[in-house]
Amino acid sequence: MERLIGSGREGNLLLISGGEFKHLKALRMREGDRLEVFYEGRLFLACLSQLRKDYALCSILEEIKRPIPKPDVTLYQCIPLELRLMDEVVERVSQAGASRLVPVLCKRGYGGRPLVEEKLERWKRLSLTSFKQCKRPKPMEILQPIELRELVLKEEVSLLLDNFAGSSTIREVDLTKNSYGLVVGPEGGFSREEVEFLVGRGFMPLLLKPYIYRSEMAGAVAVALIMNLAGV
Ligand code: SAH
Repeated sequence: MERLIGSGREGNLLLISGGEFKHLKALRMREGDRLEVFYEGRLFLACLSQLRKDYALCSILEEIKRPIPKPDVTLYQCIPLELRLMDEVVERVSQAGASRLVPVLCKRGYGGRPLVEEKLERWKRLSLTSFKQCKRPKPMEILQPIELRELVLKEEVSLLLDNFAGSSTIREVDLTKNSYGLVVGPEGGFSREEVEFLVGRGFMPLLLKPYIYRSEMAGAVAVALIMNLAGV
């Protein structure tokens, strides 16, 4: 079933306007069609009841409450020097099932905080687009950027993705837990000091096999592995 984002609500009616209305038209939806509408953090099963020139109104049939798949995964992504690659990260890790994405400012990554903060709105929009496409029960959250040095153990299992020898493989990770944190480096990788710092803080280095992935791929692969192997 198609899923659209609502932009207003009055009683039992949800408003579809702007870009979402264009999407609805492109889908050639007609009055009487059923669809899912996401509005203010809630998902509804609705029926397209009034199709006007530049907006549509949908009657709510019921609220959709689907369980959030476990485990809860947070991806700490070092922001790539090539900032546009974050778009790929957002789309991929959202599909793979991460609950939230935290952009991380690190030594070899993109360091300009003001532009990163400006981009947050774009990344949130991409997260919503992905939510529509992959039918997650909830959009992936995009949190405020942090510095690598602010990273602390928050989840039950905290992993540092590192493509150097000495790291553990996925089989050595405890896959019975409810929450996982994954830290992924930028295109040029972490600096040795950063790896030592994170290992010192208790992050466990994880090696993905068999080759070296691009930064925007590594996080998605790791999230998908954890969601599928530790998922219930
Ligand atoms: N330029 C680096 C590679 C960086 S890849 C080098 O030549 O070694 C970017 C990031 O993706 C890495 O910092 C790491 O977090 C992650 N990554 C890529 N391949 C990986 C692998 N096989 N195992 C674990 N992490 C990987």
